[in-house]
Amino acid sequence: MNNKYPDTLQKLIDCFEGLPGVGKKTAERYALYVFMHMKEEEIVDFSNALLSLHKDIHICSSCGNISEHELCSICSDTTRNHRQILVVESIKDLFTLERVGEYKGIYHVLNGSISFTKGIGIDDLNIEPLVNKVKNNEVSEIILATNATIEGETTAKYLNELLKQYDVKVTRIAHGLPVGGDISYLDEMTLIKAFEGRREY
Ligand SMILES: [Zn+2]
Repeated sequence: MNNKYPDTLQKLIDCFEGLPGVGKKTAERYALYVFMHMKEEEIVDFSNALLSLHKDIHICSSCGNISEHELCSICSDTTRNHRQILVVESIKDLFTLERVGEYKGIYHVLNGSISFTKGIGIDDLNIEPLVNKVKNNEVSEIILATNATIEGETTAKYLNELLKQYDVKVTRIAHGLPVGGDISYLDEMTLIKAFEGRREY
């Protein structure tokens, strides 16, 4: 018996399997679901969403957020305080904090954190544009909101060392942030408390 899926279906299974948290069995289930249960217009919508993501979404040239324009909606919002920058590890963290709705400054997305085990160093992170803003005297406060993990703490420490030679206040959110805490899993109240309780480095 030929136990292989047709190539076209296998290709889709491979695509799903490439997603984080999706194993082989789930990928098979998804691909078969698409084939058996999705209507043609749903499939067209799905594929168009994927295509336009690639075509129309860019990384904001100023902060590293995602955007349909060169500058994201936060960076182009003149009502926000552009002298206060909240540094996060990921776009997901930015969206989590933005949903809380308390913060009125702008962000900077590092795109990861320093990790010796994963071999991620400072050169792999989006740090230079942040330092340039500080150098150009565009910033009065940097709030380090990296995760409360070894990687997040190492990154915060490194950034503090790097930035303290400049005339900028560097703070770290702390209060209420549990050790090992990943920002995107925290509830709103904990985040507000962590933010309010930030201390100077
Ligand atoms: Zn931006």
